[in-house]
Amino acid sequence: MSNREPTPHAADIASALERNRAFAAAGGHEGAVVFPTLRLFVITCLDPRVDPAHFLGLRLSDAIVVRNVGGRVTEQVIDDVAFIGQIAENALPDGPLFEVAVIHHTQCGAGALADDAFRRRYAERIGADESALRQRAVVDPGATATRDVERLRSAPAISPRVAVSGHVYDVLTGLVETVIPADH
Ligand SMILES: [Zn+2]
Repeated sequence: MSNREPTPHAADIASALERNRAFAAAGGHEGAVVFPTLRLFVITCLDPRVDPAHFLGLRLSDAIVVRNVGGRVTEQVIDDVAFIGQIAENALPDGPLFEVAVIHHTQCGAGALADDAFRRRYAERIGADESALRQRAVVDPGATATRDVERLRSAPAISPRVAVSGHVYDVLTGLVETVIPADH
């Protein structure tokens, strides 16, 4: 056994695990299904203020959620949407598959990537191309959500039966505004 004080992280997971025991005891996991009941795939920021279980009222198995810095549509995110699209195609031979909602937000920390010194240091740290990282900044969430919707719509890996929409979540009002409605 180590003599070190427990770290705050250990305390955090301990408290979350207590909630898990209560969740399971109350049957919170029961009735969950693998195909999302709202046929919704949400891409949003990992900011703890921006949890779609809360601001969209999502319950367990309502939606697929991918969260990353800024809620940006990266190559990895395109691969994930393509993967779910392929699974959905197997289950649904025709008609619409699901909707992807890209939701960026105000006061996003991904704005730090617009800062030259921060971006340079981060690019060095992760061994990435600095100019590519500049594109990942979220300064105007309406503009980046629009750009990411276009990126998904033009990705050859994604089935045309997948609809895509773009939105902005305002952390001060709690409201989501649609900037690009779904294409079908
Ligand atoms: Zn953010």
